[in-house]
Amino acid sequence: MVRPRLWQAPLPACMGTVMKLGTLQGLLARGSRHANDLSCLAAHDVERFEDALPPGLELEWLGTAGFRLGYQGTQLLIDPYLTRPSLAATFARGPLRPDAALLARLLPRIDAVLVGHTHFDHALDVPVIAQQHAARVYGARSLVHLMGLHGLAAQAVEVEPRRVYAIGPFEVSFVESTHSKLIAGLAVPFDGEFTCNHLDGLRTSAFRCGQVWGIHIAVAGVTFYHQGSADLLDDRIEHRGIDYFLCGIAGRGFARDYTRRVLSRLEPRVIIPHHFDDFFRPVDASLGFSLNVNLGGFLDEVRAVSGDFRVRTLRPLQTWAGAGRG
Ligand SMILES: [Zn+2]
Repeated sequence: MVRPRLWQAPLPACMGTVMKLGTLQGLLARGSRHANDLSCLAAHDVERFEDALPPGLELEWLGTAGFRLGYQGTQLLIDPYLTRPSLAATFARGPLRPDAALLARLLPRIDAVLVGHTHFDHALDVPVIAQQHAARVYGARSLVHLMGLHGLAAQAVEVEPRRVYAIGPFEVSFVESTHSKLIAGLAVPFDGEFTCNHLDGLRTSAFRCGQVWGIHIAVAGVTFYHQGSADLLDDRIEHRGIDYFLCGIAGRGFARDYTRRVLSRLEPRVIIPHHFDDFFRPVDASLGFSLNVNLGGFLDEVRAVSGDFRVRTLRPLQTWAGAGRG
């Protein structure tokens, strides 16, 4: 069965009638929101600015919450999700299948994969990438379970909060976090621990959220912080003065005052928003926006906290590279 929209509970009948009456108005509003989001994306593109990453450091946005960081020959991934089946395929009866050929084509040699939580749009591709590159993966117990299903448990590290893991020139630590309550602000979709026990059962709903982590990375004299879902446990974030905040913005409408809370904690110099693209389209197709993410509105929220933050944007598969060798 194909469900019409991700994460949404069925609408009451009266709401359906209101929506039909408002369809044209709704389409016009969506069209103008899309145009506004596209112009915001272009206005903040990293290529338009003089500032640069440290020499030799590379940051690539992989779409959704996924990133690649490369430095001195070591390549890290965070929450890679490149397979991106269509909406119909995502909610079909059968298991989700990673696209191994696509992953081999789009990624260089990978040393390690960091995972913030195990929903399908953060974890589906991780076992195949780990297998292709003999890479270690770091994340929650749910991730270790998923790796074990593929016979790869020996490559998985169940992380401890705030412990520092050295991966080549990178120092990585994990901060306890929480997921946005995307189901009408009341519940996390597919919540709980990963318990599926055979590969044929790995449909979308089997990818349970598990423990959620914010990820802190120090490399080349700068720091990154990755937030994969738009909510946080305020008092667990001890890091301040982050250089580059990789800020997941999907679902922030369900987390009270998310933007102000997270920026007040991390005090980032540069904010790079992500998880606003329509991930039911192929990653190398033209960019679409997820419903109700409102990139332009996010920029207004940032400015309302402080005009001092720099916002920089990337498109899927766009790389921001520091000039020279590190
Ligand atoms: Zn999620």
